[in-house]
Amino acid sequence: MQQPPQHKTIKFTNRLAFKLTLWVGICLVALTTISAYWAVRLQESRSIGKMLQTGHWFSDTVKRATSYAMLKNQRESLHQMIESMGSQTGVEVIRVFNKKGRIMFSSRSSEIGRLVDMDSEACYACHRKDRPLERLAIDDRSRIFTVNAARGPHRVLGVINPIYTSPACYTDPCHVHPPGQKVLGVLDVALSLGAVDKQLGDTTRRVALYAALMCVVICALVALFTFFFVKRPLSALLGATRRITAGDYDQQIRPQTDDEIGELATAFDLMRQGIKEKTEDLEHGRREYQQLFEEVPCYITVQDADFRLLAHNKRFANDFGPSLGQYCYRAYKNRDSRCPNCAVAKTFGDGRAHSAEERVVGADGQARYFLNMTTPITDKKGDLVAVMEMATDITDVMRLEEELKRSEEKYRLFFNNDPNPIFVFDAESLEIMDANDRAAAEYRYPPEELIGNTFLCLTHQADRQRVVEFIAGREAFLPNVRQTRGDGESFYVNLRASYGEHLGRSAVIATTSDITERLQTEQQLIQAAKMATLGEMSAGVAHELNQPLSVIGTGSDFLKKSVERGQEIDPTDLLSVARELGQQVERARRIIDHLREFGRKYEVSAESISLNQPIQGVLGLMGQQLAVRDISVRTELDPDLPPVLADVNRLEQVLINLVMNARDAIEQRRESQGGPEGLIEIKSFTQDGQAVVTVGDNGAGIAPADQDRIFQPFFTTKEVGKGTGLGLSISYGIVRDFGGNISVTSAPGEGATFRLSLPVRGEAAA
Ligand code: ADP
Repeated sequence: MQQPPQHKTIKFTNRLAFKLTLWVGICLVALTTISAYWAVRLQESRSIGKMLQTGHWFSDTVKRATSYAMLKNQRESLHQMIESMGSQTGVEVIRVFNKKGRIMFSSRSSEIGRLVDMDSEACYACHRKDRPLERLAIDDRSRIFTVNAARGPHRVLGVINPIYTSPACYTDPCHVHPPGQKVLGVLDVALSLGAVDKQLGDTTRRVALYAALMCVVICALVALFTFFFVKRPLSALLGATRRITAGDYDQQIRPQTDDEIGELATAFDLMRQGIKEKTEDLEHGRREYQQLFEEVPCYITVQDADFRLLAHNKRFANDFGPSLGQYCYRAYKNRDSRCPNCAVAKTFGDGRAHSAEERVVGADGQARYFLNMTTPITDKKGDLVAVMEMATDITDVMRLEEELKRSEEKYRLFFNNDPNPIFVFDAESLEIMDANDRAAAEYRYPPEELIGNTFLCLTHQADRQRVVEFIAGREAFLPNVRQTRGDGESFYVNLRASYGEHLGRSAVIATTSDITERLQTEQQLIQAAKMATLGEMSAGVAHELNQPLSVIGTGSDFLKKSVERGQEIDPTDLLSVARELGQQVERARRIIDHLREFGRKYEVSAESISLNQPIQGVLGLMGQQLAVRDISVRTELDPDLPPVLADVNRLEQVLINLVMNARDAIEQRRESQGGPEGLIEIKSFTQDGQAVVTVGDNGAGIAPADQDRIFQPFFTTKEVGKGTGLGLSISYGIVRDFGGNISVTSAPGEGATFRLSLPVRGEAAA
């Protein structure tokens, strides 16, 4: 957790409550002062107004009361009246001025006879113009002034009241005023404002007191309000923000009020939660990075421009045990100066990431290899301040690389020195990805032309479909595949394939072994065997030919004798004889053709055939001789036998061999024990996806000890000159070449059954 930051205490005069109270106080004082002033002024003007009315009423009352005495010029009575009215409480003075400004009567007897200045305060209102005004508005006739009396200075309201001439004044015989004189004098009444001023002073003091009290109370209320509704929740909020600043994000900020500050607190709490989550994420990320930094399987150091270690991970500390501040080159290599190929120096030079391989000889004297990668570290301004170096120990990798190189070389050596061509090609497209030197030499292609070519291009047109099916069926061995060299020459190979991956692709590793020579030898051997068979068959063939020849002989004798005797031959008989002759010639020709066909050299080829075909051929060739030897043949052929991929001629050779051996065994049994009538049974049928032919006989059978040996070359039980011991071994080779099998079951003395099976394949099967 972070250290809580130091908080300075806010000066009292800077506090919100103080400022608010101060400004509210100032405003309140100003406002209440103004309102109090106006209230007092209003009160004063109302009081003065009242006094003014009272003054005018009093002045008029005095005027009316004295008017009769004035008219009659009863001076004494006038004096007394003015004196008695002037002595009333609140009346300052009552005077009567004449036109010249002389005081004729006064409640203050000392003033009587005094002349007043026309510009004096009492006179100025009427005499401010050169000519005195005769009539004045009531307001203009009153004045307020201050007098310094013995009881202290006080204000006085003076009201002047002009005394106008009335008709009685100039018609009465007692009087002396001329009729043109309008104003005879002025009655001046002065009333004391002392009581009014006292009342006003009281009111002013009271208002001021109330205002001051109000200010104090309001300020106190504002201070209290600020304290409870602003300061306290704000302080709580401030405390919470300080806790957040200090890194304590767990304490929830609860709004204490439901006003804006409450909302602010809620917003702060949301912010706290957001910061908390972000901080936790950051912390998690930081821990992860720290863990990575510490536990990454390589050395990480941070260096300054002098190559001093500013930071390093645990692994580095464990293996090199340096203290921070040590020079990198001393820690790593115990050198006195930096390494010549230093990637850190390069990064300090150009501000970019660099990498370099280093060889370090450890304390144990063993050389170790490091791959150093550097990254610049910049400050906020973007200035390069340090460089992080990551050193990965690649000693094992280097060793593995070397081993791999050696292994690769070894593999190449084996690959290229294999006596057979080896191809690695794509299992889908059959595109050749790799081929050994032998392949290039054998197929007579420049190596670069082989790569990228398809394996089918090396295969003869006739066998391409077989190869495609072979690869698609992921089979391991395909015999007798015809290939084409770069110069167009054809040759035969046995194809062996294994399946795997190469460069991320499903690949076939195929080896081809040239069997052309072996095939030729085999062919010669087979040919020799054929010739031997033919030789052996010659007697039987003679029998086969004998029958048509004897028919032809009989026919020609008949014709010859008829001609010699001069007999006329019936045209119908002639036609019949001619037809019979023709048929027999045709039969003899078929036998000869078949023998010729059988005797020719076979081609290493396979086509879609039915196994019934060679059976029929063999029966056509040997049926007669078997019949002559009293051996009957029973056939049970499946007309819907599925086709197989083979060669009729070669299968005929196999079947002739089996039938001849059966014939020999029957005759052997006949010679030794008489035995039953000879019977050869030939059946064809389908079993387990194989087309099967069985050739059974009721001959002498095979001794159990010989059953394993009869397929070996040169094994024969026949007397010298009769058997070669090659028939079954060659038959075995032929059947295997077509992917089939041949086997025997025999009960000695009762006969033997040979079973020949060939797989039903590819297109033919479909
Ligand atoms: P060859 O016929 O020249 O002896 P083969 O290879 O054809 O050579 O036959 C090898 C031997 O197998 C024969 O010598 C014979 O002993 C035995 N054999 C072959 N077929 C039969 C059969 N159907 N019944 C009994 N023995 C047989």
